[in-house]
Amino acid sequence: MTEDRILSEITARRDDLIALTQDLIRIPTLNPPGRNYREICDYLAARLEPKGFTVEFIRAHGAPGDSETYPRWNLLARREGGQPGECVHFNSHHDVVEVGHGWTRDPFGGELADGKIYGRGACDMKGGLAASIIAAEAFIAACPEFKGAVEISATADEESGGFGGVAYMAQKGYFSPDRVQHVIIPEPLHKDRICLGHRGVWWAEIETKGRIAHGSMPFLGDSAIRHMGAVLEQMEHQLYPLLTTKHTAMPVIPAGARQSTMNINSIHGGEPEPEPGFTGLPAPCVADRCRIIIDRRFLIEEDIKDVKGEISTLLERVKAQRPSFEYEVRDLFEVQPSMTDESAPVVRTVAGAIAKVLGKHAEYVVSPGTYDQKHIDRIGKLKNCIAYGPGVLDLAHQPDEWIGVDDMMDSARVMALTLKELLL
Ligand SMILES: [Zn+2]
Repeated sequence: MTEDRILSEITARRDDLIALTQDLIRIPTLNPPGRNYREICDYLAARLEPKGFTVEFIRAHGAPGDSETYPRWNLLARREGGQPGECVHFNSHHDVVEVGHGWTRDPFGGELADGKIYGRGACDMKGGLAASIIAAEAFIAACPEFKGAVEISATADEESGGFGGVAYMAQKGYFSPDRVQHVIIPEPLHKDRICLGHRGVWWAEIETKGRIAHGSMPFLGDSAIRHMGAVLEQMEHQLYPLLTTKHTAMPVIPAGARQSTMNINSIHGGEPEPEPGFTGLPAPCVADRCRIIIDRRFLIEEDIKDVKGEISTLLERVKAQRPSFEYEVRDLFEVQPSMTDESAPVVRTVAGAIAKVLGKHAEYVVSPGTYDQKHIDRIGKLKNCIAYGPGVLDLAHQPDEWIGVDDMMDSARVMALTLKELLL
C-alpha cells in the first residue's frame, strides 16, 4: 500500500540523508556576520531543481545585516503535484551560530561516528532541513500525482531574529494563507514532540540618572548606581516573587519556564571598564548614569501592556521614596506569544504520523524562547504552524553538536506520512 511504499522510499535514502546533512554542515553559514548564505541556497537549488521543484532566490534587501559583502539570501523551492490541493511548507533556517570553544571534532567537517553526525548546525537545524528534504523527495517518488504542492524553504538569520529571513518573506506574502496552508519548522524539538509555539518576549533598557561629582564628596553629586540599587531591590522583593505566581497553561519545556521569567542581561554604570592591559587605578567619580537590560518572557495569559505596566509601577514606587530619582525606559524588542491550537490540522496530522511511526502519543510542548513561528503567525497571519524535527534541543549552540541518523530517519518518516495524509 501507499504508506509502505513511502516508508521504503525513506529507508532506501539513508545514505543520501547522511551525505546531504554532511554537505550542509560543510557550508559554514555563520551568523553573525551571515557567511555563505548564497552558497547554501545554490547547493539546495542544484539538488531540488532536477527533482521538479521550481526555485526562487529571495534576497532580503535592506534587512538588518544585509550588505553586498553579506547579502541575506533565502531559497524557496516549490513542487506542484498533479492536481489542485493544499500546500505544505517546510521552513528551516540555514544560519548557524558561532563555533565557540571546547570542540573535539571539526565543527564544519560533518564527521559521522556511531550513528551521529557532528558539526555546528547539525542539530540546529541542518539535520532537520535534510530530513524534510528526504521526506519530500521520498513522498514525491512514491506519489508523483499528489494534490496541491510541497514547499521547502531555507531562510536566513533565524538566530538573530529572522528579519532577513522568514519575517521578510512573510512581509512579501510568501506565507499568506491563500498560498500556504500548513507550515512545519523542523527545529530540534525531538522526533516525538510537537512544538505548538513559544512564550512572548519584551527586552528593554532601564536607565537611572544621576549627577557626576568627586568621589570624596559624593553628597555633591547624585549616584545613578545607588538609584539602580533601589530599583534592583524592588525587583528582588516585589517583582520576582510576583512573577513566580504567574503560571501558564502553555506546556512549556523545561517546566521551570511554565511561569513568567525575567533575566537582567547586563548592568553598566559609572566609568567604563578599563581597556585590557591598563594597569592604572580608577578615578573617583560619582556615577551619573546606570543602565540595565531586562529580558522579560511572558505568557499567553498575560498582556504586554500589563508586563510593561509592572515595570513602570515599580519605577514610580522607587521615585516616591527617592525625591531626586529620574529614569528612562527604552523598548528594544518585543514578540507576542504564539500557540497553535491542538486541534489545528497540521498538529492532528503530525500527531497521527508520530503514533504510526513511533507507536506512541505525541507530546505537545511550547518553547521557552521564540523562533520563526512568530513571523508566520503575526505577519503571515497563518495559524496552522508548528515546529517538529529531529534532535535534542539542549545540544543546540553547544560544542560537539550532533544529530542522530536514526532520529533523522524517523522524523523523515513522520514528515512523509504527514504529506501523504494532507496531500493525497
Ligand atoms: Zn534553530
